Amino acid sequence: MSEEKTKVLIIGSGPAGFTAGIYASRANLKPLIYEGIQPGGQLMQTTEIENFPGYPEGVQGPEMMDHFRAQAMRFGAEIRSSVIEKVDFSQRPFRCVDEDGNVIIADTVIVCTGASAKYLGLADEEKYRGMGVSACATCDGFFYRKKNVAVVGGGDTACEEALYLATLAKKVYLIVRKDYLRASDVMRKRVQEAENIEILFNCNTAGLFGEDGVEGARIIRYKGTPQEEEFKIDIDGFFLAIGHRPNTSFLDGQLELDGEGYIKVKGATTHTSVEGVFAAGDVADPRYRQAIAAAGTGCRAALDAEKFLMEHEA
Ligand code: NDP
Repeated sequence: MSEEKTKVLIIGSGPAGFTAGIYASRANLKPLIYEGIQPGGQLMQTTEIENFPGYPEGVQGPEMMDHFRAQAMRFGAEIRSSVIEKVDFSQRPFRCVDEDGNVIIADTVIVCTGASAKYLGLADEEKYRGMGVSACATCDGFFYRKKNVAVVGGGDTACEEALYLATLAKKVYLIVRKDYLRASDVMRKRVQEAENIEILFNCNTAGLFGEDGVEGARIIRYKGTPQEEEFKIDIDGFFLAIGHRPNTSFLDGQLELDGEGYIKVKGATTHTSVEGVFAAGDVADPRYRQAIAAAGTGCRAALDAEKFLMEHEA
């Protein structure tokens, strides 16, 4: 166990964390990046990324994150394959403890721990991950042109994903566990009016099947009632849209969060409710959740931290 000081501690290593690392290291702040449970973030689970500017031919998610990482290291960011488990933001400098009990005393902290898509918890979701199972229609929808897909969920995200996929796919099933859509009126109406979207109300997914990827899903209607029935749908893609969970539990209530658990930032800045602590990427973004948006806020967080340090150093 050790104790060390840093000017900038970056927690998380997705596009936001590494971009913050690139900017902070170029400003000669020698940032320390803790990569966290999923080094590289959600993009490590994606296959091809075609919407990140600068890659006209597209790029594999893990390859792009390698580039981000290498660029941060090039300018002197120190990257550690470990997890920050505890933080104490009650006084500056901040005291943070990693999984091995090492203590980091940080003048500023940038939280970039991202958000995780919720999954149903089916074994088949793991089995077919990257082979037909996805939690991001914008990322993967393109691969299902003229095919059949299903979206799970009845909220605004599910409707948005279904409508997006409906412009590409032949047919979209929307699997909704209740007998109504929780989404806003306007989204509900659009989904109901779309010719190639079929809403399966009162339905739950029991499992997926297929040889080398998803070929279909087993659906149970009216689960646990006398009318319960099981049937199959033929699909090539299975999209989860049952919400995201921001990774903020380690903060132990020390930063102000919104009703859904995302870190609140002040206006267009990355300042949080604690001076000297900044937030960037999906952990503070319930709306866009895109790699390029996360990278943008990572840049802003590093600039905010740099300015903060200039103003608070003697
Ligand atoms: P929501 O929490 O609003 O909806 C989640 C949906 O997933 C619900 O229909 C819920 O069902 C369903 N669900 C949850 N768990 C399961 C499960 N285990 N099995 C089956 N279904 C499940 O999340 P969203 O991501 O849709 O939206 C989050 C917030 O972001 C909302 O406030 C939304 O309005 C907002 N948003 C706004 C948009 C816009 O304005 N354009 C776009 C996207 C999001 P049930 O209803 O039965 O609980």
